[in-house]
Amino acid sequence: MTAYRPTRPSTIDNRQSTIPKMTLDDLQTLIERMYSAKDRERGSAATFLWFCEEVGELAGALREGTPEQKAAEFADVLAWLVTLANISDINLTEALMGKYGRGCPGCGKMVCSCLSKS
Ligand SMILES: [Zn+2]
Repeated sequence: MTAYRPTRPSTIDNRQSTIPKMTLDDLQTLIERMYSAKDRERGSAATFLWFCEEVGELAGALREGTPEQKAAEFADVLAWLVTLANISDINLTEALMGKYGRGCPGCGKMVCSCLSKS
């Protein structure tokens, strides 16, 4: 299988970053350890509302936030999405690789050639 490589340019210079690398499995395990007890007690419906609230905050940051505010909101949205996956017993790496690991689900190519949806 060809390894996935993002087609969008990164805003982070990974060569100079001192931040430890984190896989999606690492993130799912971290979020599980930090929040799983409360998350499972709250349930997926209530957790989904929290996720939606964070998505709204991301929308606001994208429109008029600083780069730091945008980064924080992306982190929050991803953390809540991971929480939802955890309490739904979904392994995100398996889900993503199953759906996108071999290319675009629409056209099957690693660089999508589907007609634009804009
Ligand atoms: Zn495509």
